Amino acid sequence: MKKETKIIHSGRNYKKQAGCVNPPLYQASTILFPTLEDYHAAERGVPYYEETKQGSAHDYGYGINGTPTTFALQDVLRQLEGGDECVITQSGLSAITTALLSFVESGDHILVVDTVYGPTRRFCNKELKKIGVEVTYYDPEIGSDIAKLIKKNTRLIFLESPGSLTFEVQDVPAIVKIAKAKNITTIIDNSWATPLYFQPLALGVDVSIQAITKNISGHADVILGAIITKGKEAGKKVLSCYRVLGQSSSPADCWLALRGVRSLAARLERQQRTTDEVIKFLEGCKEVQKILYPAHPKFSGYKLWKKQFSGANSLFTIVLDKKYPQKNISAFINGLEFFGIGASWGGYESLAISFDPTEIRTATKWRENTPCLRFYIGQENAEDLIKDLEKGFKRLK
Ligand SMILES: *Cc1c(COP(=O)(O)O)cnc(C)c1O
Repeated sequence: MKKETKIIHSGRNYKKQAGCVNPPLYQASTILFPTLEDYHAAERGVPYYEETKQGSAHDYGYGINGTPTTFALQDVLRQLEGGDECVITQSGLSAITTALLSFVESGDHILVVDTVYGPTRRFCNKELKKIGVEVTYYDPEIGSDIAKLIKKNTRLIFLESPGSLTFEVQDVPAIVKIAKAKNITTIIDNSWATPLYFQPLALGVDVSIQAITKNISGHADVILGAIITKGKEAGKKVLSCYRVLGQSSSPADCWLALRGVRSLAARLERQQRTTDEVIKFLEGCKEVQKILYPAHPKFSGYKLWKKQFSGANSLFTIVLDKKYPQKNISAFINGLEFFGIGASWGGYESLAISFDPTEIRTATKWRENTPCLRFYIGQENAEDLIKDLEKGFKRLK
């Protein structure tokens, strides 16, 4: 089965759903069993109900571990990423923090990519530091030179490719090769590409993370995350940590995400085509000095992207040609008709923000000194978006 077909045919079984195409929404705290013996067996992981046998292994004794709606979403993501286990968390960020906590303990050293999602960095600097985990940030373009940063107590390498905001592409196979030789666990944040366009587990990465919040759910109405693991050891560690922490996710949100994910391939394909047209327009704008987008042939990460990925998200950044007064930048963004101003991305609507990467880097120095604008291209018509941007550049001047 190809990935597009998996998206459609995983996580549902009409015969167990009274013939309905979609898995129903099961909301539950208490789960009832006919006998005390069945209840205790379920707690030990012996499935009692037929519907709970599909998908990942789980304990179906209490609603905190999910209901068949949750398991259906687990099944879709597990199959799509090509993993052995999947757990759904209450946010993308909690998928990251739970995955990190699953593999480290006091005295360990970990390597984290310098272009990591901001809140991941904050968790490493605050909570991991508190429990005595030492964190070194590394250049996203380090490749096999990462070997030089490995210490005796290095337990984990955290990757995110492309990186947040500036989209540097990592040489994942080169890093995995070194990690494997040293028995170091690798975790990747795969939210930008989604499992549709990048398959880290097939390249030997142990854990893949999805912010379901973004393109997987795709409609700007859900906050959820997923941890997908390869191999028995990784799966056991994550599941244990997830439970010990009291993690859970709302079946209603899982139901929305299940509804959203079915159109993932069509949405991403269309948004990619629109993005190509927008990029073509931006290339001709003299106010645009650089386009930070893995699928853009002039971008430094283009070759690596081409080698590892089968498609691109519609999230990218432009670097302007010179310093503009803040009020000009605001005039550009505030006046846009079709681009919303706000955090997150991955919904059906286009977005725009400005940001400054200078303060969020420690391993590398951000060399551009002109403003950066990040765009997310949604489902709108390309011509409308381009006209909107055209007017924006006039306001910028
Ligand atoms: C948004 C985002 C997350 C976090 O997802 P939430 O559900 O908002 O917590 C993680 N990683 C990346 C790359 C993101 O863009």
